[in-house]
Amino acid sequence: MPFRDKEEYAKYQRDYRWKRMNEGLCYLCGHPKGESKSKWMCTDCLKKVNQRSQEWTKRIKKEVITAYGGKCVCCGETSLGFLTIDHINNDGSIHRRKMGRRDWGGKILYQWLRKQNYPTGFQVMCFNCNLGRSINKGVCPHKEMQYEF
Ligand SMILES: [Zn+2]
Ligand SMILES: [Zn+2]
Ligand SMILES: [Zn+2]
Repeated sequence: MPFRDKEEYAKYQRDYRWKRMNEGLCYLCGHPKGESKSKWMCTDCLKKVNQRSQEWTKRIKKEVITAYGGKCVCCGETSLGFLTIDHINNDGSIHRRKMGRRDWGGKILYQWLRKQNYPTGFQVMCFNCNLGRSINKGVCPHKEMQYEF
């Protein structure tokens, strides 16, 4: 490597990518960007990057959901596509504020849970029960109806 250290290499890459971008080329592969919606990447690279991040999200989600039991604690739903992590004490928004991120949830939450070695206070719920619980005073309507309809 003709570079003194990692930093120099990073700088080289940065300059190199800038150069490509300024020339209207994809910063990853150097091909003309064409009609790409991205400012930095050609359509092909953009697709690849999106796909990779989707796969990564799916993988980490599966890991976290599995660690928390792998099914909805209320109705037993097991399809990953329906499942989400639920704050047992309904303190999702407090948690979000504490972490100081408005985009808290989804990928970031999964990542955090994994890093914290799956702390207590969370459970797996399907979107259905999760939503039911949030509009039914914290109890899924499967369990107990809080309102008269
Ligand atoms: Zn490209
Ligand atoms: Zn459910
Ligand atoms: Zn339910």
